Amino acid sequence: MSKTWPPVYTIRRSQRARRVLLKVSSNGLEVVLPQGYKQQYTLANLLTTHRKWIEEQLLKVSQLAPQCIELPKEIKLLALAKQYTVAYLETENRQKIVESIEHKITIMGKNTQPETCNLLKKWLFTKAKHYLPELLEIYSKTYNLPYNRVTIKRQKTRWGSCTAQKSINLNYQLLLLPLELARYVIIHELCHTKELNHSINFWRLVASMDPNWQQHRQQLRDFKKFMPAWILE
Ligand SMILES: [Zn+2]
Repeated sequence: MSKTWPPVYTIRRSQRARRVLLKVSSNGLEVVLPQGYKQQYTLANLLTTHRKWIEEQLLKVSQLAPQCIELPKEIKLLALAKQYTVAYLETENRQKIVESIEHKITIMGKNTQPETCNLLKKWLFTKAKHYLPELLEIYSKTYNLPYNRVTIKRQKTRWGSCTAQKSINLNYQLLLLPLELARYVIIHELCHTKELNHSINFWRLVASMDPNWQQHRQQLRDFKKFMPAWILE
């Protein structure tokens, strides 16, 4: 149900209408008034009388309508301290991303929102497959915690995991987190190569490399503030 009442509505006058008509579409609520109808007061009453119907219809169209988000003008890969500007070039062709020098990407083609978001996700995935194994390698060498293989995953619920065979999986969205949080996740998974549990020994090991791990773990719960709208689509 809507949080505010009455909802925003537009008024249209119609020569043909004999009575007040209520129409709900993806543009919202439209009130069609017969010529000569002028009482704001009775209109408010009328809306209230039909409140249940109006709210149900508005809910229905909001669920049907394709979600519209603001497409990014820039993308910050915080973990890498890299920032990209995003330009859009509308053409009739299928969409593609072109990356030029100086951290600029251009999305060329017919702009349709779900596709643009998917394209950006694909682009991020490519970046993640390039950079996350490098980061992992650095920390692995620094702390002398070897692993067998690394896979970058496009998953929604986990930042990373580590198997008994020392295979590490990392979530591609790590690139969007501040470095200290991405680092915490990677260190956490590397520590699982020694301790495949969350025992006291495990946390001691984590703490020896990341003394602020508790704070980082806490901040990670609030990760959505680092996630742009297009990745959550
Ligand atoms: Zn763990």
